[in-house]
Amino acid sequence: MSETVMNEYISKAAAVAAIRARGAQPLACTHTYGCQGNVSDGERINGMLAAMGYGFTDDPQQADLILYNTCAVREHAEDRVFGNVGALKHIKRKHPDTIIALCGCMVQQEHIAQRLYESFPYVSLVFGTHVIHRLPELLYRVLSGGKRVYELSQSDASVHEEMPIRRDGDIKAWLPIMYGCDNFCSYCVVPYVRGRERSRDEQSIVSEFEDILSCGYKDITLLGQNVNSYMRKESGASKFPGLLKRLDEYDGEYWLRFMTSHPKDCSEELLDVMASSKHAARHLHLPFQSGDNDILAQMNRRYTREKYLELIEAARKRMPDISLTSDVIVGFPGETDAQFRNTLDLIKEVGFTSLFTFIYSKRSGTPAAQMTDPISDREKSDRMGELLKLQESIAAERCSAMVGTKQRVLAEKELREGILSCRTSGNIIVETQAPRELVGSFFDAKITEAGNWVLKGTV
Ligand code: SAH
Ligand code: SF4
Repeated sequence: MSETVMNEYISKAAAVAAIRARGAQPLACTHTYGCQGNVSDGERINGMLAAMGYGFTDDPQQADLILYNTCAVREHAEDRVFGNVGALKHIKRKHPDTIIALCGCMVQQEHIAQRLYESFPYVSLVFGTHVIHRLPELLYRVLSGGKRVYELSQSDASVHEEMPIRRDGDIKAWLPIMYGCDNFCSYCVVPYVRGRERSRDEQSIVSEFEDILSCGYKDITLLGQNVNSYMRKESGASKFPGLLKRLDEYDGEYWLRFMTSHPKDCSEELLDVMASSKHAARHLHLPFQSGDNDILAQMNRRYTREKYLELIEAARKRMPDISLTSDVIVGFPGETDAQFRNTLDLIKEVGFTSLFTFIYSKRSGTPAAQMTDPISDREKSDRMGELLKLQESIAAERCSAMVGTKQRVLAEKELREGILSCRTSGNIIVETQAPRELVGSFFDAKITEAGNWVLKGTV
């Protein structure tokens, strides 16, 4: 869709939304679930809604439009959405003109769209991950026609640059550099709901980046399911290290982060660029998923435990102070106790700053959903408990070792009077005694105390 066509629909939808609004201005209550990629989509959705004249409210009772931008990575996330949509029924009864809309990864699955259509007739707009840019048109159709609109077409492989953006915060910004995924890890639904990998062209990224900097954002995360393959399909080789280098060249203090980096494609060139860069945060999020080679093979991750540990060593050799974080799955189908112990060993060996931990969730349509799984839920949650305990002790030890050091931090918000929530380049929170005026600035904090996950400090 061209920008002109989008703008035409924005004007048309704005006119009808204004007439149908309960108050002086139409109000939207939007909520995003899931990963940063979804958060970034949510910011574009809010940008289009703002352009259509919508104001925003957290109170669904007040809203003319309630929109959930959903996640499909685990069943739990989907159950929450179904629960929340069910609870909207009474709002719809009280205010029949309220439009209830669902979008995102969950609805891109056929069986979910079907269930919504059959069991939730008061949901009037459902649109998938490939048509977000068509929201003005789709909303206009709902506003003017009164019929339910379901638009779930597949990706046409293009990247849409025409959407306005309304960013959530004013310190941290998300910048997508690519969409989709081609990796087909056997447990994961993302390639099915997000389509094939496609990269944004460098100039669009650079323009958005310059805009982000000029708005004063200080902590910028480049997003993609596997940023290490940025432009590989389009140009034959990954251009991610080059992109990072280019985005490092601007004046002023800011941090550059990226996620996610897939170990199979993480190159020494990237680590070299990070090590020599002025702005790359000393933080690498490198999901390992499992510490066992057989499980990694069944997961179709295409690296081994040894290759992963080599990468960690290569990163630490160049950046001894680098903070490492990761994702791990417990209870992949058939994972034995010995295989789980290999995961614990890897965690001990690396010493992560923090972990995102997931109990395996069966996703329909993925190869892992066909695998037999004799391990009980109880066993899986016991394993998870053990893993969390281990990681907590590692994190506490790492935090204690930082007491007495000086850390460069970025103050993100005031927690309570005189205490600011700040973040280190390594992505650790420091609750710092400092005046409110420092929110949004970098400064050196002296670390005075350590908790399990959080540090305390003074300016
Ligand atoms: N592209 C990223 C991950 C995106 S999904 C990568 O490859 O690292 C975020 C995390 O969700 C994954 O790293 C994985 O740990 C978890 N996850 C994905 N599918 C899952 C499933 N079916 N069950 C449990 N956890 C899952
Ligand atoms: Fe899912 Fe694997 Fe793609 Fe990550 S790389 S989104 S885990 S399929």
